[in-house]
Amino acid sequence: MTQQPAIRLDNLTVCYDRHPAVHHLSGAFPDGSLTAIVGPNGAGKSTLLKAIMGMLPTTTGRIDHVALTRADIAYLPQQAQIDRQFPITVLDVVLLGHWQRIGMLGAVTAALREQANAALAAVGLADFGRRLIHSLSAGQFQRVLFARMLLQEARLILLDEPFTAIDARTTADLLEVVQSWHAERRTVIAVLHDLEQVRAHFPETLLLARSGIAWGRTAEVLTPTNLHRARQIAEDWDDSALLLCAVQP
Ligand code: ADP
Ligand code: MG
Repeated sequence: MTQQPAIRLDNLTVCYDRHPAVHHLSGAFPDGSLTAIVGPNGAGKSTLLKAIMGMLPTTTGRIDHVALTRADIAYLPQQAQIDRQFPITVLDVVLLGHWQRIGMLGAVTAALREQANAALAAVGLADFGRRLIHSLSAGQFQRVLFARMLLQEARLILLDEPFTAIDARTTADLLEVVQSWHAERRTVIAVLHDLEQVRAHFPETLLLARSGIAWGRTAEVLTPTNLHRARQIAEDWDDSALLLCAVQP
């Protein structure tokens, strides 16, 4: 692909304390691309998404959000990081997708409510608006979070393991939502584990093992050699990157 990048990474390193979670990563997510991030546990996949979101500082290198502001980015964290005991209705969770536009004190208009209900219908939850979120299954709750992102109309969508522990039917339905975003030329980046799913639905892949192992067309990235290298590197410790973290204040 030769088009304009949405996000450019230039020799990016992100450390936690003295631990390099992502290091020396360079490359670009083209505008309108649909990219999977795959790699072993602890490979820095979630860290990279959080750094792109601006939730973590970069240790060295830089992230260039080409023509994107914070309001243009939607982010779905890994499921375990969301508290579902909060007593809030499904409709209100979906309306949260609009907070950046209406502000905390802005009125939720009838038109907005209608849009939220339409988003719920689009993910197969037409009559769920009044339900409290703790009463939903994991798959239903994931549908709610996708409805919220539908309302957000983001240019860049970051998904961290959106289909882990989600039933097959929900996964298939939400993959269709991802495809529709791609058809609308939004940029989508998703951390995934199922390589067959990646091969079937994601044209581009970044294979990450703290550093970038391969990045490009999925078929060229997910080769046995690259996957083997990713596993090996994940088991080793990179001393040069460790030093890089240690020099930070
Ligand atoms: P992945 O999502 O690929 O499984 P993560 O980005 O969550 O990997 O984590 C990368 C590495 O950073 C892991 O070794 C993990 O233990 C470490 N790590 C993640 N979050 C923190 C944190 N908040 N503080 C310290 N270390 C962390
Ligand atoms: Mg993760």
